Amino acid sequence: MPADTCDDTTRDRKRPRTYSNADEHRKIFTNHPTLYFEDGNVILKCGWTLFCVHRSLLSKHSEVFRGLFTPAGSAEVKPQEFFRGCLFIALDDNSDDMESLLDIIYDGLQADFPTLNAENFPTMAALLRMSTKYKLNRPRGAMLELLRSEWPSTLPKYDAKAALAPRCVNPPAEESFSTKDLGIHPAGVISLLRECDYDSPDLLVPLFYSLSTCIFKFSLPPTGHNISALSPADTERFIIGLNKLRSLHAANSQCPVYAVIHPSPDKDSRQSILCQYELLRYWHNTVGPQLLDMKDQMCHPIDDWGKVSQTAMADGIGGNVGMAGESLCSSCKVKVLNHIVLTRQKIWNALPELFGFN
Ligand SMILES: [Zn+2]
Repeated sequence: MPADTCDDTTRDRKRPRTYSNADEHRKIFTNHPTLYFEDGNVILKCGWTLFCVHRSLLSKHSEVFRGLFTPAGSAEVKPQEFFRGCLFIALDDNSDDMESLLDIIYDGLQADFPTLNAENFPTMAALLRMSTKYKLNRPRGAMLELLRSEWPSTLPKYDAKAALAPRCVNPPAEESFSTKDLGIHPAGVISLLRECDYDSPDLLVPLFYSLSTCIFKFSLPPTGHNISALSPADTERFIIGLNKLRSLHAANSQCPVYAVIHPSPDKDSRQSILCQYELLRYWHNTVGPQLLDMKDQMCHPIDDWGKVSQTAMADGIGGNVGMAGESLCSSCKVKVLNHIVLTRQKIWNALPELFGFN
């Protein structure tokens, strides 16, 4: 039998489909340049690209492939097809996506992916989609880990990341998501995760927060492209969360006269009055303008509270004598700084609830 004809080795109950004109197929199809193994025993067709690969290897790593290669024995099952002497399976996947997946399988499932950026994001997204569809846990886990490193779920990790790549404050108006910053739109990543059956808040919450920080870049008239990737439910989730987040931030921007109280034995002393006055003055002159900075429409509460705590430490509010808080007693200085640090943590901790993940 010539190599390109189909054989009749399928089950007896149904006659397998045969290719009457093998030469025609030979002309139309393109063998993949690196993933068409001469000793392979199963041919996968994606578009017009053929991959000749090893059935046992794919079966070992993916139960989905295993199922495709050994269909259940019911009468309804499509008969197996053969081409060039190999089991032949036509798939609806894009050939580039399949190439990414097979490369990973043939590389021992090592997803050695570089740092995420706008250029390699589509490849990462394809790998996440494909490893989800074909149930390959290791590459899927590696891709999710990559996203977690970009959108961390804890404040220390968020700060470590911010220290590596400080935020560009006041970017030029013409700057778009695709030209500067990371270049990857958080709404697109949320949509990708939903598509890949990922619903865990550990990644979705930082992404919704990240999307909320982008609002100041949206321009009028609205085009819709900024959040069009979101499902209707996620759009609603985002609007509600955004509103709650801004409210929480604004409410905490008030001077903390009830949280910073001079120690009780001296409550009525001159120092107590000085401390109150100094607190109000410091909050009004230094903290308030940083928290309610309208240049970016209060879009970065976590960063702004971080900035305020750094300024407070530099001003000596943490305990040392400094310029801005010079009349505060040492006890009140510590309380002011603690309040700022705790408020920042409180807002971060509230994010899952604000965006409806609790
Ligand atoms: Zn005091």
